[in-house]
Amino acid sequence: MGQIKELSDNIINKIAAGEVLERPASAVKELVENSLDANAKVIDIIVRDGGKTEISVSDDGIGIQEEDLKKAVSRHATSKLNENNFDRIKTLGFRGEALSSIVSVAEVTLRTSAKDNSEGYEMKIISGEEKYCKPIKKKRGCLVRVNNLFFSTPARLKFLKSENYESLLIKRLVQKFSLIFFDVQFNLRINNKQLISTVPSNDKNWKDRFFRRVDNLLGSEFLENSVELSEEKNNVKIFGLIGLPTFNYSNSNNQFIFVNNRIINDKALNSIMRVAYKDFMFHDRFPQLILNIQCPHEHLDINVHPMKNEVRFENFSFLKSFIISSIRLKLQFITDKPSVINSPRSLNRNNTGDYQTKLSLKEENTYDFESVEQKKDYIYQNYDIESYPLGHARSQFHNNYIISQTNEGIVIVDQHAAHERIVYEELKDNYYNKKINTQILLIPIIINLEKLDLDVIENKLILLERYGLKIEFFGSTSVIVREVPAIIANCDIKLLVEKLIQEIVDDQHFDSLEVQVNKICSTLACYGSIRSGRELQVEEMNNLLRKMEQTKYSAQCNHGRPTFIKLDLNEIEKMFKRK
Ligand code: ADP
Ligand code: MG
Repeated sequence: MGQIKELSDNIINKIAAGEVLERPASAVKELVENSLDANAKVIDIIVRDGGKTEISVSDDGIGIQEEDLKKAVSRHATSKLNENNFDRIKTLGFRGEALSSIVSVAEVTLRTSAKDNSEGYEMKIISGEEKYCKPIKKKRGCLVRVNNLFFSTPARLKFLKSENYESLLIKRLVQKFSLIFFDVQFNLRINNKQLISTVPSNDKNWKDRFFRRVDNLLGSEFLENSVELSEEKNNVKIFGLIGLPTFNYSNSNNQFIFVNNRIINDKALNSIMRVAYKDFMFHDRFPQLILNIQCPHEHLDINVHPMKNEVRFENFSFLKSFIISSIRLKLQFITDKPSVINSPRSLNRNNTGDYQTKLSLKEENTYDFESVEQKKDYIYQNYDIESYPLGHARSQFHNNYIISQTNEGIVIVDQHAAHERIVYEELKDNYYNKKINTQILLIPIIINLEKLDLDVIENKLILLERYGLKIEFFGSTSVIVREVPAIIANCDIKLLVEKLIQEIVDDQHFDSLEVQVNKICSTLACYGSIRSGRELQVEEMNNLLRKMEQTKYSAQCNHGRPTFIKLDLNEIEKMFKRK
């Protein structure tokens, strides 16, 4: 260590580059944001070798004036921020450090014109040093070509992943931009291969243009398996497509979340989605969704993260409950709706056409449970049993599927999935209302455990008692199960308790009470439900159907699979050419 010196601009820019540019995709993000801020309508992105040897972004935006050229590539110089708008920034960029960072760690060629008469300039900068600036002919707009990114910061270069992976991140990024800026044309070429080419549609209605873009980028499957969400409260708007729980994934790559059109990658927002779907999906699955949150700029702090991946909301708890309740309401509505497999629409499933109709038709299949309320205290009378939404059970086949006849057709029920939802909802209800009916086991069950596991669960046994499971220590290496919730008394208790204890042991940082209740009830329901393979009497089947009609979200089990499917009589008759 020597005397304290002020750092040179070059070093300062390299330090900033370390924060702003994590990898090639971050450079693409900054350049595309600049093009969008410049009102570009067409943006061409060319990438080679995962962005390591070349990234080039060109646009037809407003371009950079001659007198601003040098400022554009110098640190903390921006045309977007001033004393008055700091608290309500509308542009994607505002920090004025992207171009200066990029030019400090690469070889950059910048071509631009801000004029209609093709008078433009070309500037070359290598590792922060300007090599030349000369007049050229150029259409209005801006082209930034970045070669050998990070060549002057070898440490960063070393940490990049394979070329394919870096390319994939760039592709996903451009996909996100195109989803949210659906009126802009994006062309992405990676190693001479055209990976994305999105021409805006000329539909009048912006929603149609958005749906078409989704279809173009993510395929018709995404649209067919989601519903539109559009809500507004306290000046906050949320709009997007939320996926049916039955259409779920093992990772969150199909979740696209935006805030005021910004691409956001925020854990807090992601966890909101998890909570919103938690009763509809197994906890290790992820829904697909596109959600744009629009809130007044002054209620948002976007100056949180150097890569602008995170934002802070003035009133996060309001936003959280607003999003959760909106999604849940929508899901409740769609999951109370059976999958109709032979409706005219689903038969034509692959005919891409009018997306609006597709979406609204989906909502037409609503399952009407109100009418169920009125029939809650029904008298079991065969003559009108078919008028119940799930009809009259006629038989069981393959020891798991109940076939019932309704006035409108036939319903096929997956007995295990259906029972699981019923048990789950009932257990939860009972837990919260503190009215669990338990059953004392005639022959208590002893379960041997590892000493370590016993220590871990020691103070958790009290907790399980609140769910109706009475378990006590028994000797130094076992527990004894004495009581269980009556609703699951017939299941394999040993297997269930072993599984529950394992979950408690594995999951030390037990989440919020609600998550905890859901997890435990979900395990209890999964193990405590009628297994597929069990033969049911007609009366038992009908009881199950009536229970389903009275249970929330009963069109799906809590793993997100459908519990029943409806075949429409009209359509059956058409299939047999009777109509
Ligand atoms: P910021 O975007 O935060 O302002 P940048 O370093 O990314 O900072 O860009 C600096 C300035 O260069 C911008 O404020 C803008 O005036 C100009 N600029 C950069 N890219 C473009 C572009 N594609 N078209 C027009 N102007 C641009
Ligand atoms: Mg910028």
